[in-house]
Amino acid sequence: MKITGTAHVTCPACEREHDVTLVQSINTQEHPEAKQQLLEGNFDVLDCECGKRTQLVAELLYVDPIANLYVQVAPTDEAMAKGEQAFAGAGAGGTQRLVPSLNALVEKIKIADAGLEDWVVEMVKVLLLASRSEPDLNAVLLFDHVADNVLHWVMLAGGARAMQSPLAAYEKLASRTQARPKSGELRIDRMWAIAAVQKMMRDGN
Ligand SMILES: [Zn+2]
Repeated sequence: MKITGTAHVTCPACEREHDVTLVQSINTQEHPEAKQQLLEGNFDVLDCECGKRTQLVAELLYVDPIANLYVQVAPTDEAMAKGEQAFAGAGAGGTQRLVPSLNALVEKIKIADAGLEDWVVEMVKVLLLASRSEPDLNAVLLFDHVADNVLHWVMLAGGARAMQSPLAAYEKLASRTQARPKSGELRIDRMWAIAAVQKMMRDGN
């Protein structure tokens, strides 16, 4: 792990001041425990004596050499632009993604661990949300895991709610659509997926 140094942070609950270390990059082969911390939501978190836990906002490069997955967390427009340049300079290779938050990174990791492709998952999300009785394409729907040929999701809308969808629907979509992103398409998110689904509907594949 590469440490960027310390950040000065004030607890939003009690206003105690803290110096916390921030991690700039993780290589999962060298530091498998860092991946576990991320998945458990214990990464770049301020744990204050008052009991308040605060997720810190930080840039982070996540590298999984075995899955060939490279994800840059870029919480600001400036960081996004920097991430795009860094990936362009690194050349194509593996799956390269830019995400706005640690939560989005955690979802990308869960998708890769499940052996799924994020772009298909994002399209499935849009189709799932569109098929609800009151469609809301902005609703937060996060992939969680696959078990017994079922995709398990968490919908965040006034609390967390579990949702499920058949793996077969994912596989059918993956085999039929021609939406697979080209290298250099770094932001595979809701906006990307809505455009991809619209194009699929229009072109019939
Ligand atoms: Zn506090």
